[in-house]
Amino acid sequence: MANSLLPEHLLVGRDAGQTAAVYVTPSVQVGGDTPIVMAGPCSVESWDQIITAAREVAAAGAHVLRGGAYKPRTSPYSFQGLGDEGLALLSEAGAAVGLPIVTEVMDARDVERVGRRAHLLQVGARNMQNFTLLKELGRCDRPVLLKRGMAATLEEWLLAAEYVLAGGNPRVILCERGSRGFETYTRGTLDLGVAVAARGLSHLPVIADPSHAAGRAELVAPLARAAVAAGLDGVIVEVHPNPEQALSDGAQSLTPLQFRQLLRELGAVAARQRQPAAATA
Ligand code: PEP
Ligand code: MN
Repeated sequence: MANSLLPEHLLVGRDAGQTAAVYVTPSVQVGGDTPIVMAGPCSVESWDQIITAAREVAAAGAHVLRGGAYKPRTSPYSFQGLGDEGLALLSEAGAAVGLPIVTEVMDARDVERVGRRAHLLQVGARNMQNFTLLKELGRCDRPVLLKRGMAATLEEWLLAAEYVLAGGNPRVILCERGSRGFETYTRGTLDLGVAVAARGLSHLPVIADPSHAAGRAELVAPLARAAVAAGLDGVIVEVHPNPEQALSDGAQSLTPLQFRQLLRELGAVAARQRQPAAATA
């Protein structure tokens, strides 16, 4: 691996800096020419909520529908997600609008069952070093969205990805979702430096999650634009039909209108990047 942070022989460092696209479906590739947008509510709450969110994000131009069914909540008394029922609703909503779905899997014992319905399996920040889960994902045939732990170093993040690759599953997408620092105004600090470094040190695509990083809806769009401008392969964003009523993460969720505006802005950022640099006098 160039700039060797890690030993040469690791799979994660193969073809460093030459991003190899991960196909979520034959028509949705992460790491290709177009930044990918995954969007939807933090949690699946009801059929009405998820189908409304799905229609809105699909109409705005999202490529993947997100929604949590099994939720890792700080308090055991907070809404824990609808579980299997939530997954079924998400799957139905995705199919209804023609979008593949991404959802979190929290337990190694759920990988096969969740993988039967979800196109992309998310490993949450709190589970980045759940090695039993990572090994099980290494044996499955679904792509994996591996969030960076909120206090994980770049090396730990890449080695977590290595667990999945070493198990025989080459399809890993890395996701920077903000790490914990001293600032309390924002929920976390979106570490674009490390995200860009991860992209350069490995062949894996890297996306950003500005929603969990910011914790505040008004900061999501600027951070998403910055991630795409920095050359990342896309973003995952929380969108809720009515953020004030959300059962989780309402404060950081965009309204459908805000999301539509964000996609227009991201399109402009991506287009600008594709243009050859303007000649300077
Ligand atoms: C989520 O995507 O809703 C989530 C819980 O993310 P993270 O693991 O990054 O906190
Ligand atoms: Mn969330």
